[in-house]
Amino acid sequence: MKLLSLNKLAKIYDENTKNAVSALKNITFEVNRGDYVSIMGESGAGKSTLLDIIATLDKPTSGQSILNNQDLGKLSKNDAAKYRRKNLGFVFQNFNLLDSLSNRDNIYLPLVLNRTPVSEMEHRIEPLIKSLNIEKIIDRYPSDISGGQQQRIAIARALITQPDLLLADEPTGSLDSNTSKQILNLFNEENQKGQTIIMVTHSSATASYSKRTLFIKDGKIYHDIYRGDLSLED
Ligand code: ADP
Ligand code: ADP
Repeated sequence: MKLLSLNKLAKIYDENTKNAVSALKNITFEVNRGDYVSIMGESGAGKSTLLDIIATLDKPTSGQSILNNQDLGKLSKNDAAKYRRKNLGFVFQNFNLLDSLSNRDNIYLPLVLNRTPVSEMEHRIEPLIKSLNIEKIIDRYPSDISGGQQQRIAIARALITQPDLLLADEPTGSLDSNTSKQILNLFNEENQKGQTIIMVTHSSATASYSKRTLFIKDGKIYHDIYRGDLSLED
């Protein structure tokens, strides 16, 4: 079943000036529920621009990005922020945890912003504590734990809203190769439970964990490879 459709999407920065940059050109693809897609390409290829548009943080110059029948380009700034909070989960290279909050409160934060009842928060965090193996660190602080552990907390924060789509931007970019494998294996486990994931990376080793890789260059998709569930584990 279709979750996301990008339809002839284009992005021109500084349009109608001599500095105009055509960052995305005629991008068309669909993502089904349960898919795990990596978007791979070199620096400057257009990956961040594409992710920002899917994330409703930026709007295309032309074409559409449609998630669950909602044309994301048509949302007002306010509605886009609400839409993000409700439907999207984010994982970043640098974790973006708040040092003033315990790990548990970092994970609860999106639910606090959504005014979710405490009993529901407690109910939702339990399975995440188990699946992400964070019981020993849950009541410590981000500054007190390793990078790999911080990324586990960040993944829990992204998943606790049960988002339609998890967006990950170089999620292993700050981690050593062993820790990266552990984090990528967690993504595979969540995907196997049905979580739809789109991950941006410049690394083919990282992309090899996904089911499908879109190769992007000069703002265009030039390969779309589906490899199914054969992720490379060590
Ligand atoms: P990637 O994430 O693959 O490194 P980007 O999406 O960041 O690629 O960049 C794609 C192209 O758009 C590059 O030529 C980059 O210089 C340009 N670009 C990105 N952001 C902006 C911006 N805010 N203003 C002008 N040009 C931009
Ligand atoms: P608000 O302040 O209304 O919550 P934000 O844009 O600050 O809106 O954040 C909404 C969501 O977008 C958050 O989940 C946040 O993690 C994510 N987000 C914020 N900035 C970026 C970014 N540069 N790239 C990707 N996601 C982002």
